Amino acid sequence: MNKKILIFTDLDGTLLDHYNYQTAPAEKMIERLASNDIPIIPNSSKTLPEILLIREQLKLTTPFIIENGAAVYIPVNYFQQQPEDTNLENGFWVKAFCKDKDHWLKLLSDSGELFTNAFQGFTEMSDSQLAELTGLSIENAAMAKQRQYGEPINWLGDETLKNEFIKKMDLLGAQVLQGGRFLHISGACDKGKAQSWLAEQYLHNESNPDITETETIALGDGKNDIAMLEQASIAVQVRSPVHDFPQLNRTNNVYQSEEYGPAGWAECLDDILSAKR
Ligand SMILES: [Mg+2]
Repeated sequence: MNKKILIFTDLDGTLLDHYNYQTAPAEKMIERLASNDIPIIPNSSKTLPEILLIREQLKLTTPFIIENGAAVYIPVNYFQQQPEDTNLENGFWVKAFCKDKDHWLKLLSDSGELFTNAFQGFTEMSDSQLAELTGLSIENAAMAKQRQYGEPINWLGDETLKNEFIKKMDLLGAQVLQGGRFLHISGACDKGKAQSWLAEQYLHNESNPDITETETIALGDGKNDIAMLEQASIAVQVRSPVHDFPQLNRTNNVYQSEEYGPAGWAECLDDILSAKR
Protein backbone atom coordinates (compact mmCIF):
# COMPACT_ATOMS: atom_id res chain seq x y z
CA MET A 1 0.00 0.00 0.00
CA ASN A 2 1.43 3.34 -1.01
CA LYS A 3 -0.50 5.60 1.27
CA LYS A 4 0.65 7.52 4.30
CA ILE A 5 -1.83 6.82 7.09
CA LEU A 6 -2.62 9.79 9.34
CA ILE A 7 -4.94 9.69 12.33
CA PHE A 8 -6.77 12.89 13.29
CA THR A 9 -8.59 12.68 16.56
CA ASP A 10 -10.95 14.72 18.68
CA LEU A 11 -10.10 14.62 22.40
CA ASP A 12 -13.08 15.13 24.75
CA GLY A 13 -15.53 12.23 24.47
CA THR A 14 -13.36 10.56 21.82
CA LEU A 15 -9.79 9.80 22.91
CA LEU A 16 -10.64 11.03 26.43
CA ASP A 17 -13.55 9.53 28.35
CA HIS A 18 -16.55 11.89 28.52
CA TYR A 19 -16.81 11.65 32.33
CA ASN A 20 -13.34 11.05 33.76
CA TYR A 21 -11.04 12.26 30.91
CA GLN A 22 -9.09 8.97 31.09
CA THR A 23 -7.50 7.33 28.03
CA ALA A 24 -6.63 3.92 29.53
CA PRO A 25 -8.72 1.79 27.10
CA ALA A 26 -6.87 3.39 24.16
CA GLU A 27 -3.33 3.09 25.47
CA LYS A 28 -2.41 -0.22 23.81
CA MET A 29 -3.59 1.13 20.47
CA ILE A 30 -1.61 4.35 20.98
CA GLU A 31 1.54 2.25 21.51
CA ARG A 32 0.75 0.08 18.50
CA LEU A 33 0.34 3.14 16.27
CA ALA A 34 3.59 4.65 17.57
CA SER A 35 5.51 1.46 16.83
CA ASN A 36 4.04 1.43 13.30
CA ASP A 37 5.03 5.06 12.78
CA ILE A 38 1.41 6.17 12.29
CA PRO A 39 0.98 9.73 13.62
CA ILE A 40 -1.87 10.54 16.00
CA ILE A 41 -2.83 14.19 15.50
CA PRO A 42 -5.07 15.77 18.14
CA ASN A 43 -7.76 17.96 16.51
CA SER A 44 -9.69 19.59 19.30
CA SER A 45 -11.68 22.64 20.43
CA LYS A 46 -9.21 22.97 23.29
CA THR A 47 -6.64 25.75 23.74
CA LEU A 48 -2.87 25.48 23.27
CA PRO A 49 -2.00 24.98 26.99
CA GLU A 50 -4.77 22.38 27.37
CA ILE A 51 -3.56 20.36 24.39
CA LEU A 52 0.12 20.68 25.36
CA LEU A 53 -0.71 19.08 28.70
CA ILE A 54 -2.63 16.16 27.17
CA ARG A 55 0.06 15.69 24.54
CA GLU A 56 2.66 15.36 27.28
CA GLN A 57 0.50 12.86 29.19
CA LEU A 58 0.07 10.77 26.03
CA LYS A 59 3.75 11.18 25.05
CA LEU A 60 2.79 12.48 21.62
CA THR A 61 5.40 14.38 19.58
CA THR A 62 3.17 14.95 16.56
CA PRO A 63 1.57 18.14 15.20
CA PHE A 64 -1.86 19.13 16.56
CA ILE A 65 -4.79 21.41 15.81
CA ILE A 66 -6.26 23.81 18.39
CA GLU A 67 -9.53 25.73 18.92
CA ASN A 68 -11.72 23.91 16.37
CA GLY A 69 -9.36 24.25 13.44
CA ALA A 70 -8.22 27.82 14.20
CA ALA A 71 -4.51 26.90 14.02
CA VAL A 72 -2.17 24.01 13.28
CA TYR A 73 0.94 23.56 15.46
CA ILE A 74 3.88 21.63 13.96
CA PRO A 75 6.99 20.98 16.09
CA VAL A 76 9.95 22.75 14.46
CA ASN A 77 11.93 20.33 12.23
CA TYR A 78 9.11 17.77 12.27
CA PHE A 79 9.16 18.26 8.51
CA GLN A 80 12.34 18.91 6.53
CA GLN A 81 11.09 22.29 5.38
CA GLN A 82 9.07 24.91 7.19
CA PRO A 83 5.66 24.93 5.47
CA GLU A 84 4.79 28.13 3.63
CA ASP A 85 2.71 30.73 5.40
CA THR A 86 3.62 29.54 8.92
CA ASN A 87 5.10 31.53 11.82
CA LEU A 88 7.68 30.38 14.31
CA GLU A 89 6.24 30.41 17.82
CA ASN A 90 7.80 28.76 20.91
CA GLY A 91 9.28 25.80 19.07
CA PHE A 92 6.37 25.32 16.69
CA TRP A 93 5.59 26.28 13.13
CA VAL A 94 2.10 27.72 13.36
CA LYS A 95 -0.43 28.04 10.56
CA ALA A 96 -3.44 30.19 11.52
CA PHE A 97 -6.81 29.82 9.81
CA CYS A 98 -8.63 32.49 11.75
CA LYS A 99 -8.23 36.12 12.87
CA ASP A 100 -6.93 36.47 16.41
CA LYS A 101 -8.94 37.10 19.54
CA ASP A 102 -8.53 40.89 19.53
CA HIS A 103 -10.49 41.07 16.30
CA TRP A 104 -13.43 39.19 17.84
CA LEU A 105 -13.25 41.18 21.10
CA LYS A 106 -13.47 44.40 19.10
CA LEU A 107 -16.45 43.05 17.19
CA LEU A 108 -18.15 42.17 20.47
CA SER A 109 -17.50 45.57 22.00
CA ASP A 110 -18.86 47.20 18.83
CA SER A 111 -21.98 45.00 18.81
CA GLY A 112 -24.11 47.80 20.20
CA GLU A 113 -25.82 48.92 23.42
CA LEU A 114 -28.67 46.51 22.93
CA PHE A 115 -26.36 43.57 23.56
CA THR A 116 -23.55 44.84 25.80
CA ASN A 117 -25.23 43.83 29.07
CA ALA A 118 -26.58 40.58 27.67
CA PHE A 119 -23.37 38.59 27.85
CA GLN A 120 -20.11 38.14 29.71
CA GLY A 121 -17.01 37.00 27.82
CA PHE A 122 -14.22 34.75 29.13
CA THR A 123 -11.82 37.72 28.97
CA GLU A 124 -13.90 39.63 31.53
CA MET A 125 -14.10 36.67 33.92
CA SER A 126 -11.58 35.82 36.60
CA ASP A 127 -10.21 32.26 36.70
CA SER A 128 -12.28 31.51 39.79
CA GLN A 129 -15.46 32.91 38.19
CA LEU A 130 -14.99 30.64 35.20
CA ALA A 131 -14.14 27.70 37.47
CA GLU A 132 -17.38 28.25 39.35
CA LEU A 133 -19.41 28.50 36.13
CA THR A 134 -17.95 25.35 34.54
CA GLY A 135 -16.95 23.08 37.42
CA LEU A 136 -13.34 23.14 36.16
CA SER A 137 -10.49 23.47 38.66
CA ILE A 138 -9.03 26.99 38.85
CA GLU A 139 -5.90 25.73 37.11
CA ASN A 140 -7.89 24.21 34.25
CA ALA A 141 -10.12 27.28 34.02
CA ALA A 142 -6.99 29.41 33.58
CA MET A 143 -5.90 27.20 30.65
CA ALA A 144 -9.38 27.22 29.09
CA LYS A 145 -9.31 31.03 29.18
CA GLN A 146 -6.19 31.22 27.02
CA ARG A 147 -8.04 31.20 23.71
CA GLN A 148 -6.11 32.90 20.92
CA TYR A 149 -8.61 32.88 18.07
CA GLY A 150 -12.05 33.50 19.52
CA GLU A 151 -14.09 34.41 22.56
CA PRO A 152 -16.62 32.21 24.35
CA ILE A 153 -19.40 34.20 26.02
CA ASN A 154 -21.92 33.37 28.70
CA TRP A 155 -25.29 34.57 27.40
CA LEU A 156 -27.31 36.37 30.09
CA GLY A 157 -30.19 37.69 27.97
CA ASP A 158 -33.29 35.89 26.67
CA GLU A 159 -33.62 33.63 23.60
CA THR A 160 -35.13 36.30 21.33
CA LEU A 161 -32.28 38.69 21.98
CA LYS A 162 -29.81 35.83 21.53
CA ASN A 163 -31.15 35.08 18.06
CA GLU A 164 -30.88 38.76 17.12
CA PHE A 165 -27.33 38.82 18.45
CA ILE A 166 -26.35 35.74 16.42
CA LYS A 167 -27.76 37.36 13.26
CA LYS A 168 -25.83 40.55 13.94
CA MET A 169 -22.56 38.68 14.57
CA ASP A 170 -23.11 36.71 11.40
CA LEU A 171 -23.52 39.97 9.41
CA LEU A 172 -20.26 41.23 10.92
CA GLY A 173 -18.44 38.14 9.63
CA ALA A 174 -18.27 36.07 12.80
CA GLN A 175 -19.19 32.44 13.15
CA VAL A 176 -21.22 31.74 16.27
CA LEU A 177 -21.16 28.18 17.58
CA GLN A 178 -23.55 27.19 20.32
CA GLY A 179 -21.75 24.90 22.71
CA GLY A 180 -23.18 23.24 25.78
CA ARG A 181 -22.76 26.27 28.04
CA PHE A 182 -21.35 29.07 25.95
CA LEU A 183 -21.65 30.82 22.61
CA HIS A 184 -18.31 30.75 20.80
CA ILE A 185 -17.53 33.80 18.68
CA SER A 186 -14.84 33.11 16.10
CA GLY A 187 -14.07 33.01 12.38
CA ALA A 188 -15.11 30.55 9.69
CA CYS A 189 -12.52 27.89 10.48
CA ASP A 190 -13.28 24.23 11.10
CA LYS A 191 -11.48 21.02 11.96
CA GLY A 192 -11.81 19.78 8.35
CA LYS A 193 -9.92 22.64 6.65
CA ALA A 194 -7.04 22.43 9.13
CA GLN A 195 -6.88 18.65 8.74
CA SER A 196 -6.82 18.89 4.95
CA TRP A 197 -3.99 21.46 5.01
CA LEU A 198 -1.87 19.39 7.41
CA ALA A 199 -2.38 16.17 5.40
CA GLU A 200 -1.03 18.04 2.35
CA GLN A 201 2.08 19.03 4.31
CA TYR A 202 2.71 15.38 5.20
CA LEU A 203 2.50 14.36 1.56
CA HIS A 204 4.65 17.27 0.44
CA ASN A 205 7.39 16.28 2.92
CA GLU A 206 7.22 12.52 2.42
CA SER A 207 10.68 11.11 1.70
CA ASN A 208 9.51 7.71 0.44
CA PRO A 209 8.86 8.16 -3.32
CA ASP A 210 6.48 5.16 -3.33
CA ILE A 211 4.04 7.04 -1.13
CA THR A 212 1.83 9.10 -3.41
CA GLU A 213 -1.21 9.86 -1.26
CA THR A 214 -2.40 10.16 2.29
CA GLU A 215 -5.12 8.14 3.93
CA THR A 216 -6.68 10.19 6.69
CA ILE A 217 -8.64 8.47 9.43
CA ALA A 218 -10.65 10.97 11.50
CA LEU A 219 -12.29 10.09 14.81
CA GLY A 220 -14.82 12.22 16.68
CA ASP A 221 -18.01 12.13 18.72
CA GLY A 222 -19.55 15.60 18.37
CA LYS A 223 -21.13 18.03 15.94
CA ASN A 224 -17.92 20.07 15.78
CA ASP A 225 -16.24 16.97 14.32
CA ILE A 226 -18.55 16.74 11.29
CA ALA A 227 -16.33 18.80 8.92
CA MET A 228 -13.31 16.68 9.84
CA LEU A 229 -15.25 13.41 9.45
CA GLU A 230 -16.72 14.44 6.08
CA GLN A 231 -13.29 15.43 4.78
CA ALA A 232 -11.30 12.35 5.88
CA SER A 233 -10.66 9.20 3.82
CA ILE A 234 -12.23 7.16 6.64
CA ALA A 235 -14.66 8.59 9.20
CA VAL A 236 -15.01 7.07 12.66
CA GLN A 237 -17.92 8.15 14.84
CA VAL A 238 -17.13 7.34 18.43
CA ARG A 239 -20.19 6.53 20.52
CA SER A 240 -21.12 9.11 23.16
CA PRO A 241 -22.88 8.29 26.43
CA VAL A 242 -24.76 11.63 26.25
CA HIS A 243 -25.94 12.07 22.65
CA ASP A 244 -26.64 10.19 19.41
CA PHE A 245 -24.17 9.99 16.53
CA PRO A 246 -24.31 13.33 14.66
CA GLN A 247 -25.72 12.96 11.13
CA LEU A 248 -23.13 12.71 8.34
CA ASN A 249 -23.79 13.23 4.63
CA ARG A 250 -21.32 10.54 3.58
CA THR A 251 -22.11 6.85 3.85
CA ASN A 252 -18.89 5.38 2.44
CA ASN A 253 -16.06 4.36 4.76
CA VAL A 254 -17.92 5.33 7.91
CA TYR A 255 -17.41 3.37 11.11
CA GLN A 256 -19.55 3.74 14.23
CA SER A 257 -18.14 2.32 17.44
CA GLU A 258 -20.02 -0.06 19.72
CA GLU A 259 -18.05 1.06 22.75
CA TYR A 260 -17.94 4.58 24.21
CA GLY A 261 -15.05 7.08 24.10
CA PRO A 262 -11.48 5.72 24.16
CA ALA A 263 -12.65 2.07 24.08
CA GLY A 264 -14.63 2.82 20.90
CA TRP A 265 -11.64 4.71 19.53
CA ALA A 266 -9.38 1.65 19.91
CA GLU A 267 -12.11 -0.75 18.72
CA CYS A 268 -12.60 1.01 15.36
CA LEU A 269 -8.88 1.57 14.71
CA ASP A 270 -8.31 -2.12 15.37
CA ASP A 271 -11.05 -3.00 12.83
CA ILE A 272 -9.60 -0.60 10.23
CA LEU A 273 -5.98 -1.68 10.64
CA SER A 274 -6.86 -5.38 10.74
CA ALA A 275 -8.70 -5.06 7.45
CA LYS A 276 -5.51 -3.73 5.83
CA ARG A 277 -3.40 -6.78 6.60
MG1 LIG B 1 -15.74 15.59 21.48
